[in-house]
Amino acid sequence: MNLIQNLLRVSPEADERRLLQAAAQLVLGFTGLAIVTFVCFQLSVGVVRTGFAFVILISLVSLLGSFTVSCFLSIAAVACLDYFFAPPLFQFGNYVQDDVERIVAFLTTSLVVTALTAKLKRAASALRENRTRWEKAERMAHFGWWERDFTSKHVSLSDEVSRIFGMRPVDLPDWHRRWLDLIHPDDRAKAAEAAIAALNPGGPQYDVEYRVVRADGTVRMVRSQGDVTWDRSGKPLRQFGVLHDITELRQTERDLRVSEARFRTFVDQATDAFFLLDDRSIVLDVNQQACDALGYGRAELIGKHRRDFDAGLDDAAISELKKNLARGAPVTFETVHRRKDGSTFPVEVRVGQFEQGGRRFMCVVRDITERKRTEEALKRSAAYLAEAQRLSHTGTSVFNAHGSLYWSEECYRIWELDVRCGLPDGRRVLERVHPEDRDRVREQIRKDLRQKRERALEFRIVGRDGAIKFIETNSYPLFSAQGDIIEVVATHVDVTERRRAQEQVEKLQQLESDLAHMQRLGIMGELTASLAHEILHPIATARNNARAGMRLLDADPRNIGEVREALACVVRDADHARDIVGRIRDHIRKSHPRKETFDFNEAVSEVIAMVRNTIERNSVLARTSLMEEKAIVCGDRVQLQQVTLNLILNAVEAMASVTEGVRELVVSTEPGEAGGTLVCVRDWGPGIQPDEMERVFEPFYTTKISGIGIGLSICRSIVDAHGGRLWAEACFRGAAFKFTLPPASESSAARGVGEVHVEVLAARTADSQV
Ligand code: ADP
Repeated sequence: MNLIQNLLRVSPEADERRLLQAAAQLVLGFTGLAIVTFVCFQLSVGVVRTGFAFVILISLVSLLGSFTVSCFLSIAAVACLDYFFAPPLFQFGNYVQDDVERIVAFLTTSLVVTALTAKLKRAASALRENRTRWEKAERMAHFGWWERDFTSKHVSLSDEVSRIFGMRPVDLPDWHRRWLDLIHPDDRAKAAEAAIAALNPGGPQYDVEYRVVRADGTVRMVRSQGDVTWDRSGKPLRQFGVLHDITELRQTERDLRVSEARFRTFVDQATDAFFLLDDRSIVLDVNQQACDALGYGRAELIGKHRRDFDAGLDDAAISELKKNLARGAPVTFETVHRRKDGSTFPVEVRVGQFEQGGRRFMCVVRDITERKRTEEALKRSAAYLAEAQRLSHTGTSVFNAHGSLYWSEECYRIWELDVRCGLPDGRRVLERVHPEDRDRVREQIRKDLRQKRERALEFRIVGRDGAIKFIETNSYPLFSAQGDIIEVVATHVDVTERRRAQEQVEKLQQLESDLAHMQRLGIMGELTASLAHEILHPIATARNNARAGMRLLDADPRNIGEVREALACVVRDADHARDIVGRIRDHIRKSHPRKETFDFNEAVSEVIAMVRNTIERNSVLARTSLMEEKAIVCGDRVQLQQVTLNLILNAVEAMASVTEGVRELVVSTEPGEAGGTLVCVRDWGPGIQPDEMERVFEPFYTTKISGIGIGLSICRSIVDAHGGRLWAEACFRGAAFKFTLPPASESSAARGVGEVHVEVLAARTADSQV
């Protein structure tokens, strides 16, 4: 098999069909040779005739296969001639001169016939292949030929033409009539006219487009062109033509026109100007916006050189731009355009290049007059903002999940970071934070970002020289439509000075409080000393009388009369002590207030302002509900303010123990009985037990560890002295202390004006309460 393959020059990859064909040719050839040899030998026909029979056989066999196999058969035939027919028989060679010539003639003839047959076969096969290719090409291009013979009246159509007309391949004597029937009625006349005109000597060449309506109803657009061959007398002999199905082509052209019109509309409606330039910077096309911007008509602009309207770029800049464009990416630059009236405006140009019958540049030009103006305004605003930030010691920064996006100059200054080192990262910023505050700051920032909320944060930073600064930051997250944080804007204020001042105020307040405490102790001392002095005497007398009584009880016999007398003395001494305390109270009660007319609402507001710090420190929400018109009262403004102050401080103290719910304090004024004023101080503290409602007004009644228990007692004395009444009321929650003040005219008449040493006492007592 390998031998055959080599002989036939068939590579192992060769087509199996060809191999089988060669094998069949070989088998058939040898069989034929054997038969012819046998027959001719039996008939003793001689070398010439046998050779002739061999030539016919080999010619026939070579029609089946390759030239090589035929050569091989020719050689085998020569061997047969030599062995069986050229004497001496049954041996090779040694034959006579005539037989040598005959065998050589046979071999030559055989090889020539074989070669010619092979060539013929190749030509036939090439023709077949070409025909197949041509048909394929026709089918692919929807393109075919037709021929009309005017002598025989025959019309020939290629397969593709038949297909285009929706018919089977035919040779139709009456084609011309049927052909017209297949044409769309609207195009029929046109096609018929073109066909007739083409047959006039000197007439136009046959070239017509028409629609074909197929039997299944589909419509195809075709273009038919033909050439006529004439005889000597000028009569048409034949007409050969081509027919092209251009349905898709025309559809594509139509689509293209529509899309071009649409594109043109887009381009003309665009807010940017479009310029199409060639390699020499000559305008090839522009859109409407380009015309409007420059004040030219389209026809005027086309053909102009870029230089005619570009006042910003010189040739050197242009060649630099072209170099950049040659790298492939579009280039954006700014220049100045000049209108037809000579005025100029700044523009931004984006250029891209492409090939279309030469190098083309598409320039998209945007008028940036507004942008330039806005930039200028923005620059000025930024300068103002920087100045404002410098004056207010407020810096601004913006950051997102990836780091800092912006730091204002003042921010760098506050944090003492170098602006030349660029935007600081989180690590650099945290390094500046005081080591004791660092973890808290880091944790708080993370927490706020997680909870997506605004935050205010105060912490310390350590400056370059080691000095400590207090910084207050407020950050505001900006959210996307999905609710994610896009970036966070933060303000940074250097509050070092404010913080120092605050510390001073706190120190002063502490000092004040300490002082008040000392004073309170002093007053207590004075009071105790005076009480002791006054009460000691009756107590000593009572003790003596009691001891005398005891002795009399021990005597034998007992003198009951004397015992009674001694006990009566004890009672008398005790009464005396009570009288002393009573006198002190009476003294306080009898101290008449000063007399002035004033608006009590105003007085209340002043008191609240005075104790604002204490109220805030105890996290109490203070509210006033004052009568709309002025609450005019007559009396000692300072004393009445002290009463109010004392009630407010008591309420605040009472609420200090409240851990749940609101700590609320309401001071209200409203019209009282007979034109007087009713004042109420209401709290949401623990309240007062019903049986203690009156006791709280007794002197020295207190439930507080450091209380004295005379505040309410003195308050009542003051209110009494003004002709009013002070009492306590239990509420659903908390307590309400209320006092009335008579109308201005009445209270002024109620008491005279006396010494008010109690004023100092009350003021100090009140001050020291909280
Ligand atoms: P001190 O405040 O020194 O105790 P006060 O005479 O001002 O003296 O008060 C006497 C007592 O009355 C207080 O110790 C307290 O028990 C009670 N008290 C006063 N005001 C209130 C109040 N708003 N709520 C509950 N108890 C109060």
